[in-house]
Amino acid sequence: MQMPSPDTAVLINKEHILARLRAVLPADCVIDDERETKAYECDALSAYRCPPLAVVLPRTTEEVAAVLKTCYDLSVPVVPRGSGTSLAGGALPTEDSVILGVSRLNAVLETDYDNRFIRVQTGRTNLSVSGAVEENGFFYAPDPSSQLACAIAGNIAMNSGGAHCLKYGVTSNNLMGVRMVSMEGEILDIGGAHLDAEGLDLLGVICGSEGQFGVVTEATLRILHKPEGARPVLIGFDSNEVAGACVSDIIKAGVLPVAIEFMDRPCIRATDDFSGAGYPDCEALLIIEVEGSDDEIKEQLDKITKIARTHNPVELREAGSAEEAARIWLGRKSAFGAMGQLNDYMCLDGTIPVTELPYVLRRIGEMSREFGLDVGNVFHAGDGNMHPLILYNANKPGDLETCEAFGAEILKLCVEVGGCLTGEHGVGIEKRDLMDFQFNAEDLEAQMRIKDVFDPKWLLNPAKVFPLKHTEDRRKNRVQFAAHAAE
Ligand SMILES: Cc1cc2nc3c(=O)[nH]c(=O)nc-3n(C[C@H](O)[C@H](O)[C@H](O)COP(=O)(O)OP(=O)(O)OC[C@H]3O[C@@H](n4cnc5c(N)ncnc54)[C@H](O)[C@@H]3O)c2cc1C
Repeated sequence: MQMPSPDTAVLINKEHILARLRAVLPADCVIDDERETKAYECDALSAYRCPPLAVVLPRTTEEVAAVLKTCYDLSVPVVPRGSGTSLAGGALPTEDSVILGVSRLNAVLETDYDNRFIRVQTGRTNLSVSGAVEENGFFYAPDPSSQLACAIAGNIAMNSGGAHCLKYGVTSNNLMGVRMVSMEGEILDIGGAHLDAEGLDLLGVICGSEGQFGVVTEATLRILHKPEGARPVLIGFDSNEVAGACVSDIIKAGVLPVAIEFMDRPCIRATDDFSGAGYPDCEALLIIEVEGSDDEIKEQLDKITKIARTHNPVELREAGSAEEAARIWLGRKSAFGAMGQLNDYMCLDGTIPVTELPYVLRRIGEMSREFGLDVGNVFHAGDGNMHPLILYNANKPGDLETCEAFGAEILKLCVEVGGCLTGEHGVGIEKRDLMDFQFNAEDLEAQMRIKDVFDPKWLLNPAKVFPLKHTEDRRKNRVQFAAHAAE
């Protein structure tokens, strides 16, 4: 993975840039001590690291605007950051960039139960949004597995999803409005606490834009009534392909569970050893959860188990109590941590039509043997969002490169079967150089022209999303550090 060479004019003028940032922010908001900036040198794609020029942690939208205006005037690149849990390297800094972290912007600004929305600052963690409304019987639906740590800022930038998004949709389906600061320091309000936007619907452009267009500081989010009840069923199978076929049949039958999660043998064993969830000894398992009143739950589970039985499951375990339900989910919720205990891993994220699940799972198994690296599959099967975890040894020369090549082949396979390079983790640096495989040069040019409008100097997260060879001219055209500003 290549990153552009840093702008030497920015590096040389570090002290001046720091002084300018300190002039617009309180002293404790600007960090340049290398021992402290180390915490920001990577995100959850920790195979890639780079120390930033500096880190700023503003407390208000106005402070964010002042930082961006300063960096715009000085032509200094900025990498927005929420909690740094991106698995795509979206928050990875470059040596010449300022990390703009929004973690101190974490307040609840407004809660309106009659109109079912909450307005928060975007540094607030995903789980604490539900936490703020649960006493009143509400919740915020998108639930990334990282929800304890990840921020609404990153969720919006990556259009994040989660286990329960099969029924409730991803972030874009639950986001009503944002306050965003442009690179030039202008504060923009887009959408709001009402259905549909006045004027052009720009919210869809902002959500999923990976910090390319502006820094989002506030969000208005749809909150929902908690369902009357929910119950999971665990179904074990003797092959990945049969489990994949069962998912496809359930969706085809028109049943809409709230979640359909898939795990294969390597993940089942690792998570069971790690969490003691008591999973069966099988090749693949599905956790399927339905919601509603007791009658609705029973009706849906009857349909699901009837379909599952046509695939000869080796185990079919319906939760009979809250404790049993929690136990069924326990292993799935700790899957990434459990795999991390075994080995270094790279978590991929691609989407395929659900009917292609059996074929794609078989091909991943074959490729695993070809590349000589083990792979575990744990993913949101109901919407075809795959997360193969490729195990490799970071200390073994060449293993990371083999892992990257294997990952690229899996993502290309997703595109070939009619799917997409990304599901919910975004492009970042991880899939940046594969964008050519999904899009032709005209498609990419059209997307880059939108960035030209929001970020004419290409200062916001400029090394991400678009393959470097397509962005070279735009990045070169960036006005070099304004030497006169140093005077
Ligand atoms: C164990 C684990 C499990 C995960 N499970 C899921 C899952 O189930 N579903 C899922 O979707 N993801 C998952 N993720 C990935 C990750 O948590 C999400 O992408 C999350 O939304 C990132 O949020 P963050 O606040 O950590 O963002 P960061 O990592 O800080 O940044 C992510 C991107 O957002 C941009 N950004 C950050 N703040 C702003 C801002 N204020 N304005 C504009 N752009 C900004 C950054 O520049 C970067 O491009 C998982 C990650 C881990 C480590």
